[in-house]
Amino acid sequence: MRYNRAVFLDRDGVLTKPLGDRPPWNLQELEYYNHSRRLIATITSRGYIPIVVTNQPDAARGNAPLASIKSVEHAVKEYLGLAYYYACYHPYDNLCACRKPSPGLLYSASADLNIDLSSSLLIGDRAKDILAGVAANCTTILFNSSQSERSKLFLNQPDYICSEYNSLASLLGSLLSSS
Ligand SMILES: [Zn+2]
Repeated sequence: MRYNRAVFLDRDGVLTKPLGDRPPWNLQELEYYNHSRRLIATITSRGYIPIVVTNQPDAARGNAPLASIKSVEHAVKEYLGLAYYYACYHPYDNLCACRKPSPGLLYSASADLNIDLSSSLLIGDRAKDILAGVAANCTTILFNSSQSERSKLFLNQPDYICSEYNSLASLLGSLLSSS
Protein backbone atom coordinates (compact mmCIF):
# COMPACT_ATOMS: atom_id res chain seq x y z
CA MET A 1 0.00 0.00 0.00
CA ARG A 2 1.25 3.48 -0.81
CA TYR A 3 1.45 5.91 2.07
CA ASN A 4 0.90 9.65 1.86
CA ARG A 5 2.97 12.31 3.56
CA ALA A 6 1.50 15.36 5.24
CA VAL A 7 2.45 18.67 6.74
CA PHE A 8 0.23 19.28 9.75
CA LEU A 9 -0.39 22.96 10.37
CA ASP A 10 -1.63 24.70 13.45
CA ARG A 11 -4.00 27.46 12.35
CA ASP A 12 -3.82 30.45 14.72
CA GLY A 13 -0.29 31.79 14.77
CA VAL A 14 0.77 29.92 11.63
CA LEU A 15 -1.89 30.69 9.00
CA THR A 16 -4.16 33.22 10.71
CA LYS A 17 -3.35 36.00 13.13
CA PRO A 18 -4.39 35.49 16.74
CA LEU A 19 -5.95 38.40 18.64
CA GLY A 20 -3.55 38.48 21.53
CA ASP A 21 -3.88 35.03 23.05
CA ARG A 22 -7.14 33.99 21.38
CA PRO A 23 -8.28 33.01 17.89
CA PRO A 24 -10.62 35.07 15.70
CA TRP A 25 -14.22 34.35 16.77
CA ASN A 26 -15.95 35.77 13.70
CA LEU A 27 -15.27 36.81 10.11
CA GLN A 28 -14.68 40.43 11.08
CA GLU A 29 -11.74 39.35 13.24
CA LEU A 30 -10.26 36.93 10.71
CA GLU A 31 -6.91 38.02 9.28
CA TYR A 32 -4.31 35.95 7.44
CA TYR A 33 -0.57 36.21 7.40
CA ASN A 34 0.88 37.34 4.07
CA HIS A 35 2.71 34.01 3.80
CA SER A 36 -0.23 31.69 4.39
CA ARG A 37 -1.11 30.94 0.77
CA ARG A 38 2.54 30.58 -0.23
CA LEU A 39 3.09 28.14 2.61
CA ILE A 40 0.22 25.92 1.47
CA ALA A 41 1.41 26.13 -2.17
CA THR A 42 4.94 25.09 -1.18
CA ILE A 43 3.67 22.07 0.72
CA THR A 44 1.38 20.96 -2.08
CA SER A 45 3.99 21.44 -4.80
CA ARG A 46 6.33 19.06 -2.98
CA GLY A 47 3.73 16.32 -2.93
CA TYR A 48 2.75 16.62 0.73
CA ILE A 49 -0.85 17.04 1.93
CA PRO A 50 -1.44 20.22 3.97
CA ILE A 51 -3.71 19.43 6.93
CA VAL A 52 -4.86 21.92 9.56
CA VAL A 53 -4.99 20.58 13.11
CA THR A 54 -6.51 23.12 15.48
CA ASN A 55 -7.83 23.41 19.02
CA GLN A 56 -11.02 25.53 19.04
CA PRO A 57 -12.33 25.36 22.61
CA ASP A 58 -14.03 28.74 22.79
CA ALA A 59 -17.60 27.66 21.97
CA ALA A 60 -17.46 24.98 24.67
CA ARG A 61 -16.05 27.58 27.06
CA GLY A 62 -18.96 29.92 26.28
CA ASN A 63 -16.85 32.63 24.63
CA ALA A 64 -18.32 32.53 21.12
CA PRO A 65 -21.12 30.73 19.25
CA LEU A 66 -20.04 27.51 17.54
CA ALA A 67 -21.71 28.66 14.32
CA SER A 68 -19.50 31.73 14.30
CA ILE A 69 -16.36 29.67 14.88
CA LYS A 70 -17.42 27.34 12.06
CA SER A 71 -17.95 30.29 9.72
CA VAL A 72 -14.32 31.28 10.33
CA GLU A 73 -13.24 27.72 9.57
CA HIS A 74 -15.20 27.66 6.36
CA ALA A 75 -13.60 30.92 5.25
CA VAL A 76 -10.09 29.65 6.06
CA LYS A 77 -10.64 26.45 4.08
CA GLU A 78 -11.93 28.42 1.09
CA TYR A 79 -9.22 31.08 1.16
CA LEU A 80 -6.37 28.58 1.44
CA GLY A 81 -7.93 25.89 -0.74
CA LEU A 82 -7.66 23.32 2.05
CA ALA A 83 -9.24 19.92 1.57
CA TYR A 84 -8.38 18.62 5.04
CA TYR A 85 -9.07 20.36 8.30
CA TYR A 86 -9.28 18.71 11.72
CA ALA A 87 -10.53 20.59 14.78
CA CYS A 88 -11.04 19.74 18.43
CA TYR A 89 -13.94 21.67 20.02
CA HIS A 90 -13.51 20.25 23.51
CA PRO A 91 -12.80 22.82 26.21
CA TYR A 92 -9.78 21.62 28.19
CA ASP A 93 -6.82 19.26 28.20
CA ASN A 94 -7.31 15.64 29.21
CA LEU A 95 -11.07 15.52 28.53
CA CYS A 96 -10.71 14.03 25.07
CA ALA A 97 -8.17 12.32 22.85
CA CYS A 98 -8.13 15.02 20.20
CA ARG A 99 -7.15 18.25 21.93
CA LYS A 100 -3.47 19.05 21.43
CA PRO A 101 -1.08 18.23 23.15
CA SER A 102 -2.76 14.85 22.55
CA PRO A 103 -2.06 13.51 19.05
CA GLY A 104 -5.65 12.40 18.30
CA LEU A 105 -6.23 14.81 15.41
CA LEU A 106 -3.05 13.59 13.73
CA TYR A 107 -4.04 9.95 14.28
CA SER A 108 -7.49 10.59 12.77
CA ALA A 109 -5.98 12.19 9.69
CA SER A 110 -3.45 9.40 9.38
CA ALA A 111 -6.20 6.77 9.43
CA ASP A 112 -8.46 8.71 7.04
CA LEU A 113 -5.77 9.53 4.49
CA ASN A 114 -3.28 6.70 4.87
CA ILE A 115 -0.53 9.00 6.10
CA ASP A 116 2.89 7.84 7.25
CA LEU A 117 3.33 10.02 10.34
CA SER A 118 7.07 9.37 10.66
CA SER A 119 7.71 10.94 7.26
CA SER A 120 5.34 13.84 7.95
CA LEU A 121 5.94 17.22 9.55
CA LEU A 122 4.12 19.44 12.02
CA ILE A 123 4.38 23.25 12.13
CA GLY A 124 3.01 25.07 15.18
CA ASP A 125 3.60 28.17 17.25
CA ARG A 126 2.81 26.70 20.66
CA ALA A 127 4.24 24.04 22.93
CA LYS A 128 0.99 22.03 22.67
CA ASP A 129 1.42 21.73 18.92
CA ILE A 130 4.96 20.44 19.24
CA LEU A 131 3.97 17.91 21.91
CA ALA A 132 1.24 16.50 19.63
CA GLY A 133 3.75 16.22 16.80
CA VAL A 134 6.34 14.55 19.00
CA ALA A 135 3.74 12.07 20.30
CA ALA A 136 2.81 11.17 16.71
CA ASN A 137 6.47 10.77 15.70
CA CYS A 138 6.41 13.64 13.19
CA THR A 139 9.28 16.00 12.47
CA THR A 140 8.39 19.16 14.41
CA ILE A 141 8.96 22.86 13.63
CA LEU A 142 8.25 25.53 16.23
CA PHE A 143 7.27 28.66 14.28
CA ASN A 144 7.88 31.11 17.10
CA SER A 145 11.03 32.48 18.67
CA SER A 146 9.44 32.85 22.10
CA GLN A 147 11.47 31.27 24.85
CA SER A 148 8.28 30.86 26.90
CA GLU A 149 6.92 28.20 24.53
CA ARG A 150 10.27 26.41 24.37
CA SER A 151 10.57 26.35 28.14
CA LYS A 152 7.25 24.43 28.41
CA LEU A 153 8.66 21.61 26.30
CA PHE A 154 11.43 20.33 28.59
CA LEU A 155 12.81 17.20 26.93
CA ASN A 156 10.38 17.34 23.99
CA GLN A 157 12.14 20.13 22.12
CA PRO A 158 11.15 20.74 18.49
CA ASP A 159 13.40 19.43 15.76
CA TYR A 160 13.62 22.94 14.30
CA ILE A 161 12.77 26.50 15.34
CA CYS A 162 11.91 29.28 12.89
CA SER A 163 11.09 32.80 14.04
CA GLU A 164 9.92 34.16 10.69
CA TYR A 165 8.57 32.98 7.37
CA ASN A 166 11.72 33.26 5.25
CA SER A 167 13.61 30.87 7.48
CA LEU A 168 10.62 28.51 7.52
CA ALA A 169 10.43 28.57 3.72
CA SER A 170 14.10 27.74 3.30
CA LEU A 171 13.88 24.98 5.91
CA LEU A 172 10.91 23.43 4.12
CA GLY A 173 12.86 23.65 0.88
CA SER A 174 15.37 21.22 2.33
CA LEU A 175 13.03 19.05 4.45
CA LEU A 176 10.29 18.40 1.91
CA SER A 177 11.97 15.87 -0.31
CA SER A 178 10.30 15.31 -3.64
CA SER A 179 11.08 11.58 -3.74
ZN1 LIG B 1 -11.07 17.05 21.60
